[in-house]
Amino acid sequence: STHTSHLPSSPITMMPTIKFTNLFINGHFVHSVSGRTFETIDPRTEEVITRVSEGNKEDIDIAVKAAREAFDSGPWPRMTGSERAKIMMKWADLIEENIEEIAALDTMDAGKLYYFNKVGEIPSAIDTLRYYAGAADKIHGEVLKMNRELYGYTLLEPIGVVGHIIPWNAPSLTFFIKVSPSLAAGCTMVLKPAEQTPLSALFYAHLAKLAGIPDGVLNVVPGFGPTAGAAISAHMDIDTVSFTGSIQVGREVMQAAATSNLKPISLELGGKSPLIIFDDVDIDKAVQLALFGILFNKGEVCVASSRVLVQEGIYDEFEKKLVEKAKCWIVGDPFDPKSQQGPQADKKQLENVLSYIEQGKREGATLLTGGNRVGNKGYYVEPTIFSNVKEDMVIAQEEIFGPVVVLMKFRTMEEAIKSGNNTKYGLAAGIMTQNLDIANTVSRSIRAGIVWINCYFTAGSDVPFGGYKMSGFGRDMGMVALHKYLQLKSVITPIHNSPW
Ligand code: NAD
Repeated sequence: STHTSHLPSSPITMMPTIKFTNLFINGHFVHSVSGRTFETIDPRTEEVITRVSEGNKEDIDIAVKAAREAFDSGPWPRMTGSERAKIMMKWADLIEENIEEIAALDTMDAGKLYYFNKVGEIPSAIDTLRYYAGAADKIHGEVLKMNRELYGYTLLEPIGVVGHIIPWNAPSLTFFIKVSPSLAAGCTMVLKPAEQTPLSALFYAHLAKLAGIPDGVLNVVPGFGPTAGAAISAHMDIDTVSFTGSIQVGREVMQAAATSNLKPISLELGGKSPLIIFDDVDIDKAVQLALFGILFNKGEVCVASSRVLVQEGIYDEFEKKLVEKAKCWIVGDPFDPKSQQGPQADKKQLENVLSYIEQGKREGATLLTGGNRVGNKGYYVEPTIFSNVKEDMVIAQEEIFGPVVVLMKFRTMEEAIKSGNNTKYGLAAGIMTQNLDIANTVSRSIRAGIVWINCYFTAGSDVPFGGYKMSGFGRDMGMVALHKYLQLKSVITPIHNSPW
């Protein structure tokens, strides 16, 4: 293999000591009721970083009780929006002051590039927090009918106690995508981070307290899905659940919501997003975008461009150049600034990705490069490219969530649209072309929540984000996400004495 692993030679100077490993409930770090703990593993070394208190149903119950009290009688929902905004802004400043330490926690926990955490993901997370702080005093209803007898208005009220269940692939950004709008709305909440990545979430909880977020408003309970997670989705006293993760678990969350208190939920469930490249583009730029689209964050991105559809006129040259570039991609310790790709987040992900690669070979796709684990310590995988992929192959349909891309050739725009939409998912899509007609037609024909034209991954706090089809429903980010955490009440009153 041409991939160089820098493990474990790189000097790690910024390795932080772990300060927070207990559940954060009602403003305090506490042990779990059972006293049990679980290991969080460093995917670079496969060694235990630390043990973290394991939240379970009874801990979720305590956290929900605290959140309920904070909602029913605490100051947070009763503050003005600008008062909440001030505290949220202070929290954002504190995160900024601690950014290096938190960036290192996410690298240790999830194998994410340290440099990216520091200059990319965590700054975006902070930006999200500030965006919704700015929104907190701009939440208002509408005036309804006004005639001689009646007038009315709508009120937007916080929905109540929110349950957030989040994954491990973007632990910092997802934390703030969920927490920020629900805080701005005046809700209180219980968040369960993924069992792979509890450390940054607990650090954020500590800083929330320093910033002045009142006790009980934000509770962070690490633990496993079938126990702590399921206790959130089935809870009778949680008013809504916002979930990001797999289709399989999304279905369970929806079932639990249905059979408990019929709480509304929102689901963000990943994708198998097509990047459609037409033959009028600069091939080198297209190769660069396609490579980044699949290898960024080792392919552990819900919007990864995991299906690359290339028009026949440039297909051969594109394929050759993509393979050349992929072979030079540097897989190694995510603390090393030279590395472009760290290890997969955990052993299960490593095994998943390798088994999809085997499946692709069995199905008869051509393995152009990669296909192997890198080294035998840490969960590193080579950038992997398949060609001769048929649309019904498992590797063309299932979300692999790793550095594995499938290449497909198309002739006409109609064919590209059909193929792009041939998926149960509908989260994202990319189009590369200089032709405005094609760009407009394809972007309107693809059934996906976000479409990028001549770019990929570009996002921002004001850009709504979520899926069509089995990628889920509901939108994070943007002003629209506030409405996941708001109830709408209509109030009608006679202008004069009641005519009835
Ligand atoms: P997952 O859906 O199993 O886990 C996501 C979160 O849900 C975690 O916090 C987990 O503890 C919790 N959870 C698990 N079981 C639960 C249950 N029964 N009730 C309530 N909560 C539960 O995802 P994963 O195992 O971390 O990853 C598996 C696959 O999911 C990936 O390979 C990928 O395809 C997809 N995924 C998608 C995204 C995304 O951004 N949409 C993120 C991560 C993973």
